Amino acid sequence: MNTQWSKADLHIHTNYSSDGTASVVDVLEHVVKHTDLRVIAITDHDTIDGALEARRIARAYGIDVIVGEEISTADGHMLALFIEQMVPPGQPASTSIAAVHAQGGLCIPAHPYGWRVPSMGHARLRERCAGSDREWPVDAIEVFNASLWLPQNNRMAAEAARNLNIPGCGGSDSHHLPTIGLGYTLFAGHSASDLRQAIQTGQIQAGGTAWGWIHNIEFIALWVHGMTQRALKPSTS
Ligand SMILES: [Zn+2]
Ligand SMILES: [Zn+2]
Repeated sequence: MNTQWSKADLHIHTNYSSDGTASVVDVLEHVVKHTDLRVIAITDHDTIDGALEARRIARAYGIDVIVGEEISTADGHMLALFIEQMVPPGQPASTSIAAVHAQGGLCIPAHPYGWRVPSMGHARLRERCAGSDREWPVDAIEVFNASLWLPQNNRMAAEAARNLNIPGCGGSDSHHLPTIGLGYTLFAGHSASDLRQAIQTGQIQAGGTAWGWIHNIEFIALWVHGMTQRALKPSTS
């Protein structure tokens, strides 16, 4: 059987996130010109406005955009994919998972063992995702997050996913253009709906390379610049 595999980045921020630096148009143009990604998920912090804008104009760029959100649950960050309604932050992860599933979306703990950011791995992910009556019925686990400084944090996530028999996916956690695509998910097919099916049947593979030190410096410089611009902008209210 000749199965065509494609690449997706399931974790990208735009400047709709307070710490994102690239506009939606810049992200789409960068993906087309500088990557081999066929599908991307826009997953801003606690908003889907940028993702909806990206999906509206994606056709012109020839790529598929998944509307996503990185929800700040009370138990850590969680990616929601294929959603139509924003899920509010601050709720227990079990409540957020139910809200995502109720609208047909998929739930993926982000960087579950990251130590600099609120992460579900530190809230007993292994216990809560185990067994037939799971408290957290997640659909996949982010086993490769390109932004993590310590490789063992990704290894711990991969080991947890393997032990729990939950599919593992990858993403860049990009907050500025040069990091887009550094983390990715390989899947059979080429469209967002193929990817959705691949996640649900476990036919995915995570891969990538971590951000380099230059990416961290670039991102911090852009972030500080953005903060300064925002602070200097005259208030309209
Ligand atoms: Zn996060
Ligand atoms: Zn993120």
